[in-house]
Amino acid sequence: DPLIDPGASADELAFEGALRPTSLAEFVGQPKVKGQLEVLLQAARLQDRAPDHILLAGPPGLGKTTLATIIGAETGRPIRYSSGPAIQHAGDLAAVLSALVPGEVLFIDEIHRMSRAAEEMLYLAMEDFRVDIMVGKGAGASSIPLELAPFTLVGATTRSGMLPAPLRDRFGFTAHLEFYETGDLERVLARSSRLMELAIEPSALAELAGRSRGTPRIANRLLRRVRDWLLVHAGSSDLDGVRAALELYDVDEAGLDRIDRAVLHTIAHRFAGGPVGLSTLAAAIGEEADTIESVVEPFLVREGLIGRTPRGRVATPSGMRHARADTAPGYSG
Ligand code: ATP
Repeated sequence: DPLIDPGASADELAFEGALRPTSLAEFVGQPKVKGQLEVLLQAARLQDRAPDHILLAGPPGLGKTTLATIIGAETGRPIRYSSGPAIQHAGDLAAVLSALVPGEVLFIDEIHRMSRAAEEMLYLAMEDFRVDIMVGKGAGASSIPLELAPFTLVGATTRSGMLPAPLRDRFGFTAHLEFYETGDLERVLARSSRLMELAIEPSALAELAGRSRGTPRIANRLLRRVRDWLLVHAGSSDLDGVRAALELYDVDEAGLDRIDRAVLHTIAHRFAGGPVGLSTLAAAIGEEADTIESVVEPFLVREGLIGRTPRGRVATPSGMRHARADTAPGYSG
């Protein structure tokens, strides 16, 4: 679903680029991570060296790419973007690493999806700024060491648990991004509406913030839909616009989207509150287990609607109440 899927489409990337904060001061929320990064970057600046490697972990749309860009800007270093799925062979990684200029920031999104061979090459590169290139096969194979320019790796992952320990340990610092508080999302939305030259009532922004799944990307995306709705229904109040647009796009009062509600409903009704295993749940809804685990579950757990037990996922009493009150779960299960 293009509206609620936290992944970004091409058109949206341009829109997101325009709204992306470019300094730590402009970056809203995440006070803990901001404080940690400020010290880390300042120390590197004082010693005139590349900052330590940094891992950014958290659900999609919380600002990992934004923070990587800010790390480059704050340290005055160029940044190069790559992603785990694009690095399937050790040779792909060797090509990226050998092209880096001294001090460059290398951002690898979805770093947990890199191939095993590339991962192993990365260990040495992160530690010694060197890689060993294998040439030949079998008994005649040999390795040629290749010196690299010192660089800072910024890795982003929605699944830090899936990273092998040797890779995780080589990051000097791991930032855990949390879902945003409603007040912070209000500030994100106020800033975005200013940049979009959209005059909108604070009460409407507050309502929208509370229904954006704690995620700036979703808040900005819904703001565009609300803008469209208000344009088409000229004369309506902003707050009515938010409510009507969100209903149209299947976002409920608690900010649950179609897949969130399908998961909650399936656990509550089809499996009598659970426990139910992840793969059974995924099959029952027709969604990827990975999407449920890295996108849906963290939010429903934070909202206190579902819980994780050793035997599977369960609906909490408040989750059961929510599922019973929802008469249009929006899926066919
Ligand atoms: P993914 O992992 O899916 O790439 P992400 O965590 O990297 O997601 P970003 O692309 O950095 O997320 O952020 C998505 C959008 O949300 C951007 O357009 C950015 O403008 C906005 N955004 C994210 N964090 C903040 C923030 N703290 N303040 C203001 N805007 C933010």
